[in-house]
Parts: sequence; structure tokens; C-alpha cells
Amino acid sequence: MKLALMCRNPNLYSHRRLAEAATARGHEIEVVDHLRCYINITSHRPSVRYQGRDLPKYDAVIPRIGASVTFYGAAVLRQFEVMGVYPVNESVAITRSRDKLRSLQLLARKGVGLPVTVFAHRTSNAEEVINLVGGPPVIIKLLEGTQGIGVILGETQQAAESIIQAFAGANINILVQEFIKEAGGEDIRCLVVGGKVVASMRRKGKEGEFRSNLHRGGSADRVKITPAERSTAISAARAMGLNVCGVDMLRSNHGPVVMEVNSSPGLEGVEKATGVDVAGKIIEFIEKNAQPNRTGAKGK
Ligand code: ADP
Ligand code: GLU
Repeated sequence: MKLALMCRNPNLYSHRRLAEAATARGHEIEVVDHLRCYINITSHRPSVRYQGRDLPKYDAVIPRIGASVTFYGAAVLRQFEVMGVYPVNESVAITRSRDKLRSLQLLARKGVGLPVTVFAHRTSNAEEVINLVGGPPVIIKLLEGTQGIGVILGETQQAAESIIQAFAGANINILVQEFIKEAGGEDIRCLVVGGKVVASMRRKGKEGEFRSNLHRGGSADRVKITPAERSTAISAARAMGLNVCGVDMLRSNHGPVVMEVNSSPGLEGVEKATGVDVAGKIIEFIEKNAQPNRTGAKGK
């Protein structure tokens, strides 16, 4: 097959691994930096221009679009979809996964377990919002945060209220969530590929840290997940319409709760912690599923 890897930096571990896995399985793979693409919007011959040429109609495109360039990256991916190229994840699914509030609404609609969460307009009453999620301690999250930056623990009523008020004053949108204390600073990340959990790891925050993000100094190891965790991860991926994703869950007293579904999950942590060839599984998925014009989206 002829594949495109949409990414900005081909030297990142995840991108190198995807390229290696594709080559090892006998495919041709080209790196396309979406920010250097031009989108040629014409009715009969839609195309993507890159380095002075029209890109070919690949058999599939693997999008690895960073959160900061979602808008333009999704537009380029959509153009490939209009051309009939099979996207490993569709542009609409990526865009929706980048919006925490919208993601939680979609997951809730499908009955996926979530932490009790309130989103309030900035002028709302902080005290009531805190009570709605069960009182302090509460988690306060910036709607736009990633890698654990913008996730704050409001330990007391007073602290939580002043944090909420501070963001309100700065016109910043936030979510307020019940704090899952029993998770003990650990979370579970499941890599879902084609409706199956192919690898799972437990991430643990460094000493005294409630956030388990590897970017915040956390560590990871292989974990055996429960059937409830497996089915939650699969339902979350399906609700988001993502073929490939990382589902982050907390082990709460009321079962697994999903915090986030990541449409460009990093492969380094999970491959190193579990020894699973996740990149190879992604390429295998493409082999089974990529066919021209087989995209539900077609750029919708
Ligand atoms: P980001 O998208 O920035 O990674 P997350 O929502 O995944 O933000 O939160 C970062 C980390 O904070 C999680 O991995 C988890 O360890 C911790 N965390 C987030 N929400 C909660 C919560 N409601 N209760 C307990 N810990 C949480
Ligand atoms: N209503 C669906 C959603 O919120 C589909 C619309 C879209 O993705 O643009 O995901």
C-alpha cells in the first residue's frame, strides 16, 4: 500500500515507529507535514499540494495532528477525505476529541462512566458548582489543557472557590469535576485499535503528585485490566468515532471513569511499558480496513 503519515516532526518516537512498522510490512510511507500543505478546493479535482506537486491518492492516511494545529491539520485531512483517501481517524472525530466538553457530552450520551463533571458559564456561582460535584476536594480543568497542565486540585472550599473565581475573572472556560481520590494518583491508559484494546498501562504520578501524566514526571507499567475497564475503553472509542485512540480512565469506587480520549496517543510510553508493537497493530488495522472511498466522512 501507499500510505501518508501526516505529522510535523517525523523524528518523534511515535512517528518513527509508525514509519518503521509500515516499511517492515512492505508498504510505502511518505511523511506529509500538514502545515506545509496547500488545499486546492475545486469541484472536480480536489487536491493537496505539497512541495510543488499534487499529492497522490494514497491508500490511507495516518493523521498525527498536534493539539495546537488542530484547525489546519483537520482541514488538510478533510481534503484527503474529499479525495476518497481512507483516514485512520476521521477529521470530525479528531476535532471533536479536542474539545473536552463536547467529548464528555458524547461519552455521557452513550452511557460511558465519567467523573461527575460540571461546566458552568464564567459568571456562575462557584459555591454551587462545587456542591454539585459533591464538595471539596474538586478537580478544576482548563478546557484547553493538555499533558496535565491546567489540571488543578482545589483541596478546600475556599481554595476551590478562589481558583474558579480567578478563571472566571480571566474569562477562561473550565470544567469542575469530582476528585477521584481512591485512584491514588494513578490512571489507566488503554490503546484501542479497531475496536480492540491492544495494550494497557498504568501510569503513576511522581511522589506527592495527583496527576499521572508521563510529561509531569509520572512512570508507567503494564497492567491487567478488568472486563469492565476493557468494555469502557471500547465504548469510549466507539462513542468518539475513533479507530485509533488512547482512553484514559481512573479506577473509582463506582467503577472505571473516563477522563479523556486522545486521538493521537503517544506510542513510546505504552510500547516500552508493555512490549506490545502498537505501531504494527495500527498498520495491520489499515491493511484490513483501508479501501478507496471507504470513509464515512468524505470530508463532512
Ligand atoms: P490532560 O488532558 O491535561 O492530561 P487529564 O484530564 O488527563 O488532563 O488529567 C491529568 C491527570 O490528572 C490525569 O492523568 C489524572 O492522573 C489526574 N486527574 C484528572 N482528573 C482527575 C479526577 N477527576 N480525579 C483524580 N485525578 C484526576
Ligand atoms: N453530533 C456529532 C458530534 O458531536 C457529529 C457532528 C460532528 O462531529 O461534526 O460528534
